[in-house]
Amino acid sequence: MRTELTKRIFFACITVFLLTSSLILYVMNSYLMQRNIAELKDRAVLLASAVNQYGETFLSSVKTGNGRLTLIAADGTVLFDSQLNPAHMENHSQREEFQEAVKLGEGDSERYSDSLFKKTVNYAVRLDNHQVIRVSMNQDTVFRLIISVLSPVIFIVLLMIFLSVVLAAQSSRKIMKPINLLDPENPDDRNIYDEMKPFIRRLIAQNQQIQHQMQQLQTEHRKQDDMRREFTANVSHELKTPLTSISGFAEIIRDGYVQQKDISHFADNIYREAQRLMTLVNDILKLSRLETEVIDTQEPRTSVNLLTLCQNVRERLSIHAEKNHLSFSCQGETVSITGIPRVLEEIVYNLCDNAIKYNHPGGFVHINIFQSEHHAVVQIQDNGIGIPQQDQERIFERFYRVNKSHSKEVGGTGLGLSIVKHGMALHYGQIQLESEEGKGTCIKLFFPLPN
Ligand code: ADP
Repeated sequence: MRTELTKRIFFACITVFLLTSSLILYVMNSYLMQRNIAELKDRAVLLASAVNQYGETFLSSVKTGNGRLTLIAADGTVLFDSQLNPAHMENHSQREEFQEAVKLGEGDSERYSDSLFKKTVNYAVRLDNHQVIRVSMNQDTVFRLIISVLSPVIFIVLLMIFLSVVLAAQSSRKIMKPINLLDPENPDDRNIYDEMKPFIRRLIAQNQQIQHQMQQLQTEHRKQDDMRREFTANVSHELKTPLTSISGFAEIIRDGYVQQKDISHFADNIYREAQRLMTLVNDILKLSRLETEVIDTQEPRTSVNLLTLCQNVRERLSIHAEKNHLSFSCQGETVSITGIPRVLEEIVYNLCDNAIKYNHPGGFVHINIFQSEHHAVVQIQDNGIGIPQQDQERIFERFYRVNKSHSKEVGGTGLGLSIVKHGMALHYGQIQLESEEGKGTCIKLFFPLPN
């Protein structure tokens, strides 16, 4: 990270240096050019007025220095030149500065001679006798200037590169120092520069959020642990009761305290307790399967026709209802949802089983299936014993029973509604309970409709 930062700062320095130097050279070059042309013009105008006054013979005595002086006849023939023999020179009528001077009185031009390194600047002035006097000067270009001062330029460039490297390394060290010293778990925005402050603030906020989430998770874990412990205790207790009975009955028979005629009665008791045990173990297994969500991987979700499913449940429980002298009906619309058929049947079965178990002889159980705007609804209604208001919130808890002995009498385990609750959660459904003690219970199941 630091080398990357150093590199970037270094390149920024070098770019700024090169750009600035080029711009300065360009501006200097244009300024020098302008000044030279102005000087050349002054000289040409002065010479022209001297020739006008004293005649051309005067020209040969003029000191030209690094400049050059040319006198051109009106037709372009060179009459005098301070550097070359006019006899060997070509006609100058096509030269730009000459043509301009003939036409306008004065004219100038610039030409690169040989290469980009040298430039000739000309200034021409028309004389009273229509001849033209021209002053020329060679001018060094920027390239030449640079080359002529190459060694100091190289020295300056190297110095700048060195300075850039040092500055870049120093800046990146300064930028990185507070970052390297930062403790991500305990960020402090006091010794940090302003640009870093929003980052630190975000870090602090994130740390707080993580801490809050950790606390929530811990509470959640604690709750789950408590629930698991409670469940294990409840299960052990529930299993112990029938096992104690079975072992007690068997002990009495083994010790010969039971008369032959009573044996079948005791055997029946053992059988019923064993059945209870089986139902209990079955319910516990069902619940743990629903909770561990193995169902989703083992049993695929399919389209389930709720009317057919409820009719099947009614079929399975009809004898049970008849025994209790209840009327049991199932009607409604054909509505399909996406779900796990076995779990859905289990849900409806448990609810109808309760409606039968907690009912009076002569009562009824109605299943109704219909569709509301966004849901498929299964309604199970009975006119049985109802659930007291204060128990209604708790009956979906495991092993919660309003009347424990009554529940046991009718073969309940206290797990039926827990299975319903978990099954509904697997189907993203909701349960609505309406019940009045002594009047009956109505449970509505809401399933989201498939898109
Ligand atoms: P159980 O195996 O005891 O029936 P559930 O979890 O199915 O366990 O039900 C919990 C308790 O809710 C039952 O013990 C019973 O007291 C009460 N309950 C459930 N359904 C009904 C109903 N339809 N009418 C009256 N009470 C009900």
